[in-house]
Amino acid sequence: MSTQYEQTVPIREDEISQILAAAPVRDAVRVREVLAKARKLKGLDMLDVAALMPVSDPELLAELFITAREVKEQIYGRRLVLFAPLYISNLCSNECLYCAFRARNSELKRRALTQEEIAREIKSLIEQGHKRVLLVSGESYPQEGFGYILRSVDTIYATRSGNGEVRRVNVNIAPLTLDEFRELKQAKIGTYQLFQETYHHETYSRVHLGGKKRDYNWRITAMDRAMEAGIDDVGIGVLFGLCDYRFEILALMQHIQHLERKFGVGPHTISVPRLEPASGSDIASQPPAAVSDLDFRKIVAILRLAVPYTGIIMSTREGPTLRRETFALGVSQISAGSRTNPGGYCEDEDFEASQFSLGDHRMLDEVIRDVASLGYIPSFCTACYRLGRTGADFMDLAKPGEIKSHCDPNALSTFQEYLIDYASAETRQVGEKLISLSLDRMNPKDRARSEGMLAKVREGKRDVFC
Ligand code: SAM
Ligand code: SF4
Repeated sequence: MSTQYEQTVPIREDEISQILAAAPVRDAVRVREVLAKARKLKGLDMLDVAALMPVSDPELLAELFITAREVKEQIYGRRLVLFAPLYISNLCSNECLYCAFRARNSELKRRALTQEEIAREIKSLIEQGHKRVLLVSGESYPQEGFGYILRSVDTIYATRSGNGEVRRVNVNIAPLTLDEFRELKQAKIGTYQLFQETYHHETYSRVHLGGKKRDYNWRITAMDRAMEAGIDDVGIGVLFGLCDYRFEILALMQHIQHLERKFGVGPHTISVPRLEPASGSDIASQPPAAVSDLDFRKIVAILRLAVPYTGIIMSTREGPTLRRETFALGVSQISAGSRTNPGGYCEDEDFEASQFSLGDHRMLDEVIRDVASLGYIPSFCTACYRLGRTGADFMDLAKPGEIKSHCDPNALSTFQEYLIDYASAETRQVGEKLISLSLDRMNPKDRARSEGMLAKVREGKRDVFC
């Protein structure tokens, strides 16, 4: 076995416990000092984060949320990137107590989509207007093994419908070997995403009872192998509800620091899933460390301040109201119109084959209308990944604020495409108004660039980006 696999990611539980125990409970001066530091957009350390976590006084909480909003606006403007998950298989050899796909759940209808079925699902997503897909699978592949994933990525990129195609495939699949990650990179995936679920060793052992996923170390080192294999954009996350969220956030910070030290760049995204009810799982309905809606918003706000340039992803696990409240606090990407059962886009939702139940069941058009009426620009942009602006190169552009001059025009041109090709009349009306308002807010240089790109899209050109 290569030494790379034997390495571990240092999650120092003692250090986390000490920091949490020593964190001031009510120290408004310290909280305001941390918020002032966060406004400089240089991020926070673990002690700063620990000082923000106990905030409960309404005035200070409001200051925390306002600061998160300011930081988000400064870096991401009013854009929200949209994507859809594509569940290709619910076969799984692991026994994660919280998941309906776990091996011993005999209530689940099992299925791995064929390549033809994947193409049908993708057509359905393209016809809704999606351009970014997250491929998701349980940890057991049909006969062809890992090759199934590679073929599925190829199928997704090869599928077309009308003016549309999927332009970026991200994947959320079980940890791979270094060689497999190299193959995944060659298949031209965007982000490799994997959640540690819980960074707490004891909790991890308690909820992962069988299969390869029992190995905490194999999972936590997956990002090291992915990055060593040349996958620049990796996405990490915690499944909130398994263990105290304050522990998880500090452990997440340690994981980020490890990647920054080793590769010079941290994760591209952080996901913040909360446990949702799942068929055949008691723990999913009664999370041992449930996170309230208020704490969820606090988590998003604190992460936005701690790692200002890292994307934060929120899924349709959350309901529309909470999603609306959380956009402003720092979320940069959301899924929409999702199904978590393989085949769900063509054959409809089926809880008996789904991974968990959803909080937001709305179709993409309705989500877009909602997001746009709140003043956020729905974006389907895939430019950075396609122009090689990934990993450290992306951060080099993002940190001095230069990335905005690309993101804003790209968001508007992809939104314009959506409005022309897929939107309902009602959404188009809301959207066109938002586009002209957004142009008015731009500096003259970005506005000129944007107007040129929008004109091309209106003339019929597609996939216009800078
Ligand atoms: N099987 C792979 C794995 O476990 O990493 C990848 C796909 S798995 C379907 C994607 C994620 O779904 C898991 O990492 C877990 O965080 C999340 N998940 C599982 N059960 C869930 C539940 N009941 N509620 C919310 N999220 C859940
Ligand atoms: Fe399988 Fe992933 Fe579900 Fe665990 S979370 S049972 S590995 S699909």
